[in-house]
Amino acid sequence: MYTTRRNFIKQSIGAGAMILGSAFVSRSQGVLKEKVLDKKLGIALIGLGYYSTEILAPALQETKNVYLAGIVSGAMDNEQYWLEKYNIPRRNVYNYENFDSIADNKDIDIIYVVLPNSMHKEYTIRAARAGKHVLCEKPMAVYAADCEEMIKACKDNNVRLSIGYRMQFEPHTQEVMRYGREKVFGDIKYVTASAGFINQSPKTHWKLQKAYGGGVLMDMGVYSIQGARYTIGEEPVSVTAQQYKTDPERYSEVDEIVTMQLTFPGGAIANLMTSFNVSTNMLYAAAERGWFDMNPFSSYRGIKLRTNNGPVELADINQQARQMDEVAWCIVNNLPMRVPGEEGLRDLKVVEAARKALASGKKENII
Ligand code: NAD
Repeated sequence: MYTTRRNFIKQSIGAGAMILGSAFVSRSQGVLKEKVLDKKLGIALIGLGYYSTEILAPALQETKNVYLAGIVSGAMDNEQYWLEKYNIPRRNVYNYENFDSIADNKDIDIIYVVLPNSMHKEYTIRAARAGKHVLCEKPMAVYAADCEEMIKACKDNNVRLSIGYRMQFEPHTQEVMRYGREKVFGDIKYVTASAGFINQSPKTHWKLQKAYGGGVLMDMGVYSIQGARYTIGEEPVSVTAQQYKTDPERYSEVDEIVTMQLTFPGGAIANLMTSFNVSTNMLYAAAERGWFDMNPFSSYRGIKLRTNNGPVELADINQQARQMDEVAWCIVNNLPMRVPGEEGLRDLKVVEAARKALASGKKENII
């Protein structure tokens, strides 16, 4: 039995626990109030590479409900840079070996796992066992079974888990989700989306290595899969997939370009493309009574939404700051997460079926 997104949102956002669309605000006596905690939660980043350095740490300078309290640093990282730039006390600096002792650190409430994909599972589970809430980057893990273990570890240790699907916090994307949910243009019949960039990393980079959960389907394909799922508002039931390699030597271990076709229970289909050899970033939906598109649809800023009625302009927010603030708010107020672990699991189920379809050349069911 597949849960539609509409039912899922109904189930996961209870009465009195409403997160009002794009505005991260609450309604009190008819007045919209920004949701700001009395005391910020402390976050520690593990995986201090591109995304943490260039995007998350700067976003944490804009957050109202969380602050950068600590780091978990490895051999590849420039610990001194972090200590000086962000004034992080030494007592809040860990390494991969002593990470579990973070359990005793009251400054740290949330661990943000920003490691290579194959390491998400181990560090999410270790964080949960240390009694810390977890924000884990996308894709959640390499296999669906890993996601299930991560969800269980967080439940067993009574900590919250959310996945880094930042687009779900973005106002234009939330508007598109509403089009699907409320059938603003009638039933959506067709979605096409593409997500790609020109990957110039050396072949030794983890994104080009199978053992680390590399490959384009895992890295960028999940954006197009998410896009189809949140636009149509249903869970796909089958997938066919094809792959192409312009540089088989460079991409000897992982996929370089993948196309996929998904079918949905209500009759919609999606045609998706993801690539490490071209920059592409768009989503288009054709519905019974109109169309809409986002181009770009998955950038950090500047999402552009149009419908057959014209452009739709909403606030251009810092997605990562919004995401971390909302996660902290939901932790403190014990509210459902907008992007719980189950959301990462759903994408991994599609990825697994797509891997099977690539190998078999046949249509595979998503189970
Ligand atoms: P990166 O290669 O720049 O950094 C990875 C970091 O992990 C390293 O700097 C290091 O601190 C750590 N690490 C530990 N062991 C390692 C090992 N054996 N090999 C390599 N690194 C090791 O990667 P990134 O681009 O920052 O991506 C990290 C995660 O964040 C990935 O899961 C990726 O999908 C995700 N991400 C998400 C977004 C988003 O928009 N949500 C954007 C970029 C990356």
